[in-house]
This record gives sequence, C-alpha cells and structure tokens, in this order.
Amino acid sequence: MSNIKLKAPSFVNSHLDLDKNKYCLISGALFTEASFANHQVYKLKCGHSFDYKNLLLAISLQNESIYTYRRCPFCLSISDRVPFKIFKKMC
Ligand SMILES: [Zn+2]
Repeated sequence: MSNIKLKAPSFVNSHLDLDKNKYCLISGALFTEASFANHQVYKLKCGHSFDYKNLLLAISLQNESIYTYRRCPFCLSISDRVPFKIFKKMC
C-alpha cells in the first residue's frame, strides 16, 4: 500500500497545502500570502505548484504539441485540465 494521495488539482490556499515546491517552478518566485489570498497558486495532480498566470501560458504553449498536451510543465506527468479563471479588478 502506498501512502501517496493523489489529490484533485486545485488552487492552493496556504503554505500547508503545498506538496513539492514552495516557489513557482517557472518563474522561481516564492509564493506569498498575497498570492494565496488572490488565488494565484495552482497545484497540479503530480503535486507541483505554479503561479497561475505562468502555468496558463506554459499550458497554452504545450497544448500545441500532442507530446506535451495537458502535462505538467515541470515533470511532464499527465495532468487534468487547468480551469480558466477571469480576474476582475474593481476600480
Ligand atoms: Zn509535475
């Protein structure tokens, strides 16, 4: 029996929910409390977390090839769809 739980990919709300990395694997920027509060951190099924905007850009580029289609940009394990979220700013 393995103790590894495969959680559904989702937005991360705190440092405690991060599994493998404490910073974005694309930009290298550390996740801050503000980025958790603004729902800007997204964790894939493999456990790798990314800044949401960087992840969307990476996924959109990867989806052009069938070999990288819908995969984690870091470990290339198969991932589910990443939701498209629209952020509105009240001015
Ligand atoms: Zn991964």
